[in-house]
Amino acid sequence: MLRHRFHLPEDKIYLCGNSLGPQPKAAAELLGQELDSWRKRGVEGWWQGDGPEGGWLGFHRRVADDLAAIVGAKPEEVTVANALTVNLHLLMVSFFRVRGRRCKVVMEAGAFPSDQHAIISQLKFHGLDPEQCLVEVAPREGEFTIRTEDIVQAINEVGDELALVLWTGVHYYTGQFFDLKTIAAAGHAVGAMVGFDLAHAVGNVPLSLHEWGPDFAVWCSYKYLNGGPGAPGGLFVHQRHADDETLPRFAGWWGHRESDRFLMRRDFRPEQGAAGWQISTVPVIGMAPLLASLPLFAEAGGMDALRQRSMELTARLHTGIAKISGLTIITPADPNARGTQLSVYVPGHRPDLEHQLSAAGLVVDYRQDNLLGGDGGVLRLAPAPLYASEEEVDAAVSILEKMLG
Ligand SMILES: *Cc1c(COP(=O)(O)O)cnc(C)c1O
Repeated sequence: MLRHRFHLPEDKIYLCGNSLGPQPKAAAELLGQELDSWRKRGVEGWWQGDGPEGGWLGFHRRVADDLAAIVGAKPEEVTVANALTVNLHLLMVSFFRVRGRRCKVVMEAGAFPSDQHAIISQLKFHGLDPEQCLVEVAPREGEFTIRTEDIVQAINEVGDELALVLWTGVHYYTGQFFDLKTIAAAGHAVGAMVGFDLAHAVGNVPLSLHEWGPDFAVWCSYKYLNGGPGAPGGLFVHQRHADDETLPRFAGWWGHRESDRFLMRRDFRPEQGAAGWQISTVPVIGMAPLLASLPLFAEAGGMDALRQRSMELTARLHTGIAKISGLTIITPADPNARGTQLSVYVPGHRPDLEHQLSAAGLVVDYRQDNLLGGDGGVLRLAPAPLYASEEEVDAAVSILEKMLG
């Protein structure tokens, strides 16, 4: 447990790392180093630096090894650039390709709004009708979470009309952790491309992206990765596409080969692997806090060790909340089908609940329900294993009991 490596809001139990991870204590120093380099060197900071890596030119490579370990990929399969929704659009340019009958997308129902906006706008961009072409798989009547068999069946039914399976790793609202390996295999079996949105999965659950084999994945860096508000997002492109210069892409000079980028020629030759999907100048200042946050995952023993601790903390929270009458935990009870987060349905109209809980010392997040069809809302609580403690989980349960029991 690396609680001492984070700044946590004073006198609060912080169970909101699923929304914004806390600040690593080393972030200010590592950001300061880049500000120093800028102050001392100006433009020459691109080529010169104090560390063994030199200047900022290859800045994205300084996070690749840690990030690759966190998502179970090879370093050249991942990079950091832009932001999640932007990367989702960019990777759909390459991997959502309409070919004849193949024009449909399978996705989870109730996806995060930004993902819905992205896919619907992409379908319209291709001149397609989202009503016809977007197939959303929902939980069965009376259930909160989506069965893997129903996902596979939907993929098989769409069959040779399926262009893309776009699925989330851990559902932002219900906390369900999906069987991504099975979903990737089912999509590929019918000849579709497969992409994952891992916003709530990265740094939360162990992932094996290279082995599971999706064509691409995207995530943000400010939730469980603790990279800071608006930190640039991460992306994965499977090795099988690393050298494919025929893939359509929206290109920019930072995705061009580093070896001759500054010859300023017109022809575009992409950098190998994920780095070839960069477009603009590497966002050094925005990325610097990741140099503080990403190494903490290895320091904590890696994702498997964190998962072990996460399961203990979440089980403890589950046991405590299950005893409070009137609350319904909608996240799966099976530890393998959830990550750190528990989502709890609270009946009744409670627009001030988040503020009331914060005033009582508990920072969580609350959203008016728009998925389950009730008049209440959903609290999301995430005891992130890098910094949350058993005592905090117990105290959080006491606060919930007092205010909602
Ligand atoms: C947090 C989150 C986003 C946010 O996207 P940004 O482009 O980083 O603002 C998108 N999709 C999902 C599933 C998320 O959980």
